[in-house]
Amino acid sequence: MTPTSASRGSNGRPGDRGQGHARPGAGGAGLASAQSPLRRRLLPRRGGRDIAIDLGTANTLVFVRGEGIVASEPSVVAVDTENGEVHAVGEEAQMMIGRTPARISAVRPLRHGVIADFEVAERMLRYFMGRVHRSRHARPRVMMCAPSGITGVERRALTEACVAAGARSVHLIEESMAAAIGAGLPIDEPSANMVVDVGGGTSEVAVISLGGIVVSRSLRVGGYDMDETVAAWLRGTHGLAIGESTAERVKLEVGSVSPDLSQGSTEVKGRDPVSGLPRQVDVTSEEMRNALEGPVAEIVVAVRAALEDTPPELSSDIPQRGIFLAGGGALLRGLGERIREETSVPVQLTESPLTCVALGAGLALDEIETLEVAGGTPARGTPAPRSRRRRMRR
Ligand code: ADP
Ligand code: MG
Repeated sequence: MTPTSASRGSNGRPGDRGQGHARPGAGGAGLASAQSPLRRRLLPRRGGRDIAIDLGTANTLVFVRGEGIVASEPSVVAVDTENGEVHAVGEEAQMMIGRTPARISAVRPLRHGVIADFEVAERMLRYFMGRVHRSRHARPRVMMCAPSGITGVERRALTEACVAAGARSVHLIEESMAAAIGAGLPIDEPSANMVVDVGGGTSEVAVISLGGIVVSRSLRVGGYDMDETVAAWLRGTHGLAIGESTAERVKLEVGSVSPDLSQGSTEVKGRDPVSGLPRQVDVTSEEMRNALEGPVAEIVVAVRAALEDTPPELSSDIPQRGIFLAGGGALLRGLGERIREETSVPVQLTESPLTCVALGAGLALDEIETLEVAGGTPARGTPAPRSRRRRMRR
């Protein structure tokens, strides 16, 4: 991927909240305490602290070099539909949904992992960058995560939105690579590491070896598509119309793709599309298994295709180490089991599926000086690990 650099101002308020934190023992950027010499060494002299951003379709996470993950909020912006004014971003915007005048609507600026609404995306990025840097003159260097399947135009939009929001320079890193680094996989070794990241709007499958992506599959299918199929299925089978958030709740409560785990039921309230009256039905996990089959089958096909494309010397490593699952969608009950059944390869969840991409991109910030010295144009936007460079120099 091609990183770009440019500059502008940013503003906003600092933030110190977030669900994830740098994993103890993960090494590098996440470990330095506020006063330590290591942290002072990591801090750039000007422009503010370097940050990594996992700009997801569902959630945005921010990692500050030397600190760890400092923000994790939904990628939602509350916008006044009449004058375009932004009322709130992130959690606050999420909470406003349905509790504000009808003209304020919740906008998700990303669709299937790429920017769908440039202006709103820029405002959202400005908010997240402002949570880290109090000064509006701070212009941090940014390591930005991006799906591997995005086009040149989508890549440029991502970089430009970041610059417009106040970044001094922007380096892109593939989400799968970031996930592998965040999961602590030995990506710089000459053996295969396979990662499957199921997000809200995309699923990324990659085989990584010697610090580079050898095979990748990027699918514009994720957790939101599962919600959509749940809603469509309830409408078709039970004649019940439900909204997006109800569909997601049903998925989280009883969603499952493995027969062994299919038990329990939940009450779903919605509207009868014919009479227009409220109605409720009971939905079982068994029913959810049928409803979720479409998107789950697409993910399984992508994993199989990536395995088939992997060169034989590498594919023989995969069964030993197994496939690592990341992203919120990977938490769907039975998904790992289903992939294992269909590929005959062991599957395991990464330690923190929702934060490992941000963590990995944050750890990759340690390579940012090298990237900038090299003209800011790392191959495919992914910094090769230090150990590999050392080997290459020898
Ligand atoms: P993104 O990277 O696209 O922002 P995330 O990795 O944050 O996405 O994952 C968000 C998706 O994960 C949402 O679609 C959400 O419904 C789904 N998700 C989160 N937890 C679970 C769970 N326990 N079971 C199934 N899906 C889940
Ligand atoms: Mg993601």
